[in-house]
Amino acid sequence: RTDTDTEKQTGTEKRTGSESDRDSDRDAELKALAERAGRELEDASALEILQWAVQTFGKQFCVTSSMEDAVVAHLASRANPGVDVVFLDTGYHFPETIGTRDAVEAVMDVNVITLTPRQTVAEQDAEYGPKLHDRDPDLCCALRKVAPLEQGLTKYRAWATGLRRDESPTRANTPVVGWDEKRRKVKVSPIARWTQDDVDAYVSEHGVLTNPLLMDGYPSVGCAPCTRRVLEGEDARAGRWAGRNKTECGLHG
Ligand code: SF4
Repeated sequence: RTDTDTEKQTGTEKRTGSESDRDSDRDAELKALAERAGRELEDASALEILQWAVQTFGKQFCVTSSMEDAVVAHLASRANPGVDVVFLDTGYHFPETIGTRDAVEAVMDVNVITLTPRQTVAEQDAEYGPKLHDRDPDLCCALRKVAPLEQGLTKYRAWATGLRRDESPTRANTPVVGWDEKRRKVKVSPIARWTQDDVDAYVSEHGVLTNPLLMDGYPSVGCAPCTRRVLEGEDARAGRWAGRNKTECGLHG
C-alpha cells in the first residue's frame, strides 16, 4: 500500500466519519423535534397533526396505507393535495385490497406509490419453499413487508400510519408524533387517539373509500393467507395470524 493509498483511505474514512457524525446530529435533532411535537400535538386534531407534518417535511413526508380504508390518506390529501400514499403489495393481498388501492388511485387527490418485495411469490417459494407464511411468518413479513417498506421510505424523513391506541395493547402508547428508532424517521400517527366509532363517523361524513372486506367479517385486513374472519365477541385483530403466536408484522415494532 502506498502513502497515497493510505491518505486516500484515511481521507475516505474521515469523510465517512464526518458524514456519519452529521447523520447522528441530524437524527438527534429530528428525534427531539418529533418528541416535542408529540407532546405539543397530543390534543390536536388529526388534520392539524398532518398539517404540521406537511409544513415541516414537505415532499419528504408520506402516508402509508394498508388499504383497509383510506381515512388517513383522505385526511392527508386535505392537508396536502397530491400527497404520496405508499402501499405495500406483498403479492398475497385479497383482490378487494388491490381493488381499494386502484379506487383510491383513481378518485382521490393522492399519489399512490406501490412498493413490491425483491422477489415474487414464485421466486420466494423457489428459494424458501412454498407457504413460508405458514412455517415462518416472521421471515415472510420481513421479506415481503419490512424490507420493501424500509427501502421505499429512504427518500422520506417522516411517514404517517393509521395506528390507533385502541386497536391492541401493543399500540396503547402510540404517540401522535414520535421517533421511529429502527428507521430513523419521524413517525406520525394522526388518528392514534381515535376510536373505531370516530373512524366510522369520518368515513360516513366524508364518503371515504373502504375495503369491502370490512363489511364482510374482516375488521382488520392483512394478507389473505394470514387473515380470517373474526367471530362474534373477538378482538378486531383476532383474525390476523390466528393461532400463529404473532400479532404484528414488524412494520411497527
Ligand atoms: Fe407473509 Fe402473512 Fe406476513 Fe403477508 S402477513 S407478508 S403472507 S407472513
